[in-house]
Amino acid sequence: MNKENTTSRLPVMSGKRAHTSSTDGEQQQPAQKKMRKVDIEPPQRFRSAASVAPPRRPVAVKAPAKPLRPTGAATVAVAPARGDQRKPVAAVPKAAAGSGASRRPGWDLKGKVSDMENKVQNYQGKIKSANQENEYLKDSITKAQKHKAEIEQENSGLKKRLRNCEEELVKLATVKDDLEQTSKERDGLKKDLNKLTEEHKVLEGLRDHLESELRNIQTQLAIQTSALGRCQDSLKESQELARNLEETVAHQREELHLGEMERRKLHNAIQELKGNIRVFCRVRPLLTGNQSDILHIQLPAHDNKALTLAKMEESHTGRTADTQKSYNFSFDRVFGPRAVQREVFEEISLLVQSALDGYNVCCFAYGQTGSGKTFTMEGSDLEELWGVIPRAVQQIFKSAKALREQGWQYTFTASFVEIYNETLRDLLYTGKPNKRPEHEIRKISSNEITVTNLTYQKVNNEDEVHNLIMLANQNRSTARTGMNDHSSRSHSVFQLDIEGQNSDRDTKCKSTLCLVDLAGSERVQKSQSQGDRFKEMTAINSSLTNLGIVIAALANKDSFVPYRNSKLTYLLQNCLGGNSKTLMFVNISPEEESFSESLNSLRFASKVNDCVIGTASANRK
Ligand code: ADP
Ligand code: MG
Repeated sequence: MNKENTTSRLPVMSGKRAHTSSTDGEQQQPAQKKMRKVDIEPPQRFRSAASVAPPRRPVAVKAPAKPLRPTGAATVAVAPARGDQRKPVAAVPKAAAGSGASRRPGWDLKGKVSDMENKVQNYQGKIKSANQENEYLKDSITKAQKHKAEIEQENSGLKKRLRNCEEELVKLATVKDDLEQTSKERDGLKKDLNKLTEEHKVLEGLRDHLESELRNIQTQLAIQTSALGRCQDSLKESQELARNLEETVAHQREELHLGEMERRKLHNAIQELKGNIRVFCRVRPLLTGNQSDILHIQLPAHDNKALTLAKMEESHTGRTADTQKSYNFSFDRVFGPRAVQREVFEEISLLVQSALDGYNVCCFAYGQTGSGKTFTMEGSDLEELWGVIPRAVQQIFKSAKALREQGWQYTFTASFVEIYNETLRDLLYTGKPNKRPEHEIRKISSNEITVTNLTYQKVNNEDEVHNLIMLANQNRSTARTGMNDHSSRSHSVFQLDIEGQNSDRDTKCKSTLCLVDLAGSERVQKSQSQGDRFKEMTAINSSLTNLGIVIAALANKDSFVPYRNSKLTYLLQNCLGGNSKTLMFVNISPEEESFSESLNSLRFASKVNDCVIGTASANRK
């Protein structure tokens, strides 16, 4: 049996793989069609083949379970049509085998043996062919197994690919979802785009509008820029002018300051020429009746500095005519009964100015009770009847305000104290009456006096001072209910401490303005006064007498001035003497029965007037 026959029995492979086992270029058919199910029972088949003619039916090896690709399952038999090419392996001539056995007579043993030998030979040939076929089949199996392994490998490869494909499919599903999502988004975006396109159109319209506005504005800007340029030029000019003016202002301020200092100097010189202690006499009008009825007080028409007190003295013998006794006085100024408050203050206002300039100023009202001291110092509520204190306060705040422009800052501190029977009483006290503290006068430095427990009230304006004066009056009237006309027997001292500072020029000034309403100067007959009244009168007299002594000592430039002899002079020591300006009002009652008291008052005042107090110097630092 040749190779060609052997190969011809194998199933024909489709595709490339089939060619590997078919070398004869045999016409190929699709594998599945060519496949024949082989009844693999070689012994049976060989048996039949031995007895019968070679099988006309092709014998097919059982195809693998998955016959997608035939893997060399062999066909054992070949179709008769191809008999020329594929002869049965152990075909024995039919005539020889079949006909010989049936025709030989029984005796022809030899023939039978020969037949048998032929048969044996035939079988041996068949066995040989079967063995060959077996070998071939084994080989085919090996190949088929190999092929199976390949297929399995391929299968696992395919499975793997399948898995990959499935994974890819899953991925693709996700991608599909994404795509759907994206598509939705795209729709949304399309809508947005449409909207935006519309908005864009609107905005374009707006932009066009704004552009035209911008052009307008630019035009206006150009106009205004040129205007600005002009303004800047004029601003430069103005700044230059302002600089020049500032220089001028600074220069003028300097000049003003120098002028102010000069004014202070000159003002003081005038005050000194007028005298550092001055006495003004004021005659109270008659409270009832005609002023021309005042006969004993004569005021020369053209001399406002003189006053004559005249009295007719009866002849004791009656033989001589009555004689007129005259007492002439001259003062710095005499105010008659018709003089109004404003007129009186005009004379004092210069001294008040001195207080702002840094000089201590002291103003007393001296005279018998009812002569008009309180009226002169305080006056009454109506502005035109205001006395020295409210007018001085008004002037001080007004001047301080004017001086503020020159860099002067002032602070004012007010106190109001009453001296009765050599005891001090705070008139600005607001506590319980039974808890009134005691006061002591203390000298805290060479030019500073303070009173312990006294109310020192900072004041910023006139109204505050007026309120304090009202409070002082209330305090005095409370005392009056306890003692008959207490006020006339006590001194009341209003003090305003003034502190000025010119920070621009590092200049300071400090002074005190004292306005004193003295106790009534009337003398009471010793026989008429007893007990407390006597004590009171003694105290008043001694303090007023001491005031005279102190002034005289200052006038004489005595080395010792007895300030401590009375509370009044001790309290006022800084406002009297060297560093101060003093003004004394002597108040006169116009009634004739007051003649004697008036004479006493005028004599006391004359004594004071004769004193020349040492030149004052401003408390400047
Ligand atoms: P003193 O304080 O000296 O005791 P007052 O000032 O209380 O005297 O005066 C006594 C009275 O005389 C008061 O009623 C007062 O109003 C009045 N008086 C005093 N001086 C004048 C004056 N210049 N013009 C009008 N009335 C006066
Ligand atoms: Mg009075």
